[in-house]
Amino acid sequence: MSFVDWFRKRLGGAGNGGSPSGDDGDSHGCESIPCMDALSKVHEYLDGELEGVSQEEVRRHFEICKKCYPHLKLEERFREVMLRVGAEEKAPDHLRLQVLELLAAESEKGG
Ligand SMILES: [Zn+2]
Repeated sequence: MSFVDWFRKRLGGAGNGGSPSGDDGDSHGCESIPCMDALSKVHEYLDGELEGVSQEEVRRHFEICKKCYPHLKLEERFREVMLRVGAEEKAPDHLRLQVLELLAAESEKGG
C-alpha cells in the first residue's frame, strides 16, 4: 500500500466493504476542481508548486469542501510536526505512520 493510499484510507473512516471507486456524488455547486484533483495536489499546494491549477483554485476547493478540508489540515499538521522534529524529508516510514496515526486520532476526537 502506498503512503497516499494509507493516508486516504486512514481518513476515509470505517471501511466496512465500501467500493474503492469514488462514487460520492456531492456537488459543490460551483466551478471548483474535483475532490480527486484537490486531494492529489495537496502536497503541491502546500509546497506552492502547483502545475496546471492555481493555488487559488485548490484553496477554494478546500474552503468549500468539508470532505477534503480535513485532509489539508492533517497534512499541514503532519508537516508542522515533521519540521519540529527536523525530519521533514528524512522521516523513516514508521515515523511518518506514527505521526499520521496520532494526528488522525486527534482529528477524530475533533480538535
Ligand atoms: Zn473535495
